Amino acid sequence: MLKDILRKAYDEKPLDVNDVKQILMASQGEQQHEVFHLARELRERYFGNKIFSYGFVYYSTHCRNKCNFCYYRRGNKEAPRYRKLKSDIVGIAWDLARSGVHLIDLTMGEDPYFLAYPEKLVDIVKEVYDVTKLPIMISPGVVEPQVLSSLKKAGAVWYALYQETYDQELFAKLRYRQSYNKRLRLKKIAKDLGYLVEEGLMTGFGDTLGQRAESILSMESIHPSQVRTMTFVPQKGTPMEGKIINNNRNELLMIAAMRLCYPDKLIPASLDVEGLVGLKDRLNAGANVITSLIPPEEGLAGVSQSKLDINNGSRSLIQVLPMVEECGLRLGTQEEYQNFIYTEEQCMVTL
Ligand code: SF4
Repeated sequence: MLKDILRKAYDEKPLDVNDVKQILMASQGEQQHEVFHLARELRERYFGNKIFSYGFVYYSTHCRNKCNFCYYRRGNKEAPRYRKLKSDIVGIAWDLARSGVHLIDLTMGEDPYFLAYPEKLVDIVKEVYDVTKLPIMISPGVVEPQVLSSLKKAGAVWYALYQETYDQELFAKLRYRQSYNKRLRLKKIAKDLGYLVEEGLMTGFGDTLGQRAESILSMESIHPSQVRTMTFVPQKGTPMEGKIINNNRNELLMIAAMRLCYPDKLIPASLDVEGLVGLKDRLNAGANVITSLIPPEEGLAGVSQSKLDINNGSRSLIQVLPMVEECGLRLGTQEEYQNFIYTEEQCMVTL
């Protein structure tokens, strides 16, 4: 019975794969209402009514890989390609910091240029940290452990590397010719180096209920401090272009299931899938970080939706705040965000 599973989650007893499946299968109406209600209650238990916000700087859209779902896969002529100069990246990060975000997310495709000159990445992280004094999340893809180590010393706090799924066959279909185990191992290495790790899953591309449930539970193996899911958006010029777009129900139930499984962790509500319109649903499903905030008119792209809501300014903090308040939430202070980081770092010491 769903009620018994929700009681178990309320008491923070470990959920098994059948429990998670039941949560993901909650029917629209009363059942989903109860699931989302509990997700918010658990969020409140650990975070009160505060949420956090991340500024996103997608500074290079070049990539050596050919992930079948990704707009920026190598060889896709449809995708806009750019590589920002360090001075531009630092300027954008500074603008984001002034707007009040809690963290700067520095993301790139696996750009062969930066992979050949990792010291340039290190310089970028150093300077962004010097100028903003904000925690930095890096998403450079699969890099050498020594590079991760240098980036950590330069000021990076978080390492984001999404598995997308913990089903190895499915992984092979998504992340064309990439190593499942190497990706997983790198997250464990990052933890050993002292990083907080963000894990991410994708849904809506033909993944099954069982695969979703298993993946949510399997993420625990890397002890993530932030867990996320995003709905697949078909991209022009990719092998998965013709896939039918799913509605966001799976994503919302996955956010809630993640909150029930990882009540004290951060869970993003990305603006990258549906823009501002989809924010409220995600917050009401238990998310507590707004990610993918992008300053307008800087020539930056999003990941899933390369243009959505960017140049009209709807991905800026000031635009999302009214919606945050409508959900009965408030933006946490920088000190509150630093406290979260500190607590997670202490947890790592005792792991
Ligand atoms: S998902 Fe990342 S690694 Fe894969 S093609 Fe896109 S940018 Fe490259």
